[in-house]
Amino acid sequence: MVITVMTGAGISTESGIPDYRGPGGLWRRDPDHEKLVTIGYYLADPDIRRRSWRFRRDNPVRAAEPNAAHRALVELERAGRLDRLITQNIDGLHQKAGSDPERVLELHGNMSGVVCVDCGARSTLDEALDRIDAGEQDPACLACGGILKTTTVMFGENLSEDVVAEAARAAERAEVFVAIGTSLQVLPAASLAALAARSGARLVIVNAEPTPYDRIADEVIRDRIGEAVPRLVARLTA
Ligand code: NAD
Ligand code: ZN
Repeated sequence: MVITVMTGAGISTESGIPDYRGPGGLWRRDPDHEKLVTIGYYLADPDIRRRSWRFRRDNPVRAAEPNAAHRALVELERAGRLDRLITQNIDGLHQKAGSDPERVLELHGNMSGVVCVDCGARSTLDEALDRIDAGEQDPACLACGGILKTTTVMFGENLSEDVVAEAARAAERAEVFVAIGTSLQVLPAASLAALAARSGARLVIVNAEPTPYDRIADEVIRDRIGEAVPRLVARLTA
């Protein structure tokens, strides 16, 4: 049985990282938050960049630990059942839990790196945050003075075509496609679930709130992810 799993922000809320659209989500608390992760605002407005860097520095992501659901997906892989682990998350918690980085497809990049939008020079988030801690508010590229951003894919930016193509191939060959903790409201995640179902996969959705794809799913599990995913993995590896 070829199983591909796709995860969204909902798998990490029990690790203390708020999602965007869930009940305690960042957008319900601060509608302005969208600007901090939208490339147009970020490039045009130094104040958005200063807020964005402060948000990165104070972000719970940096201290977060994987939870039972991330760990269960490691077990699925070790049992030889996991083909690809597609994620919309930028928190790196799948890899931190022990998932093989080669199998993890990060649709939206990750937070560990920093890149200059002008010359492409790369450095680490830790280096940039050291500069914030030392008093800089909007650290510029040390090579060319350009604007720095994390290696996450912001709204308005293109996704890596290679990553999207590999995710699509995994969705097509999946016999079971499990979508966990995603509201399935942004592309390409939403279309990957549809592609998998169209290509014959059994579609399983694990999410507390309804999604637009529930009606084409073969199974919808509306429980807490930290409990539901270990249970599901036990069933899939039995
Ligand atoms: P989303 O915020 O749109 O949806 C998350 C869904 O998970 C919601 O429907 C919510 O009801 C559900 N959920 C949350 N906690 C749950 C729990 N414990 N049990 C069951 N269900 C739970 O998330 P998305 O679809 O991933 O889209 C958000 C976008 O924001 C993505 O592009 C992602 O890159 C980014 N993001 C990432 C992180 C992260 O890396 N952890 C956090 C916030 C946002
Ligand atoms: Zn530069």
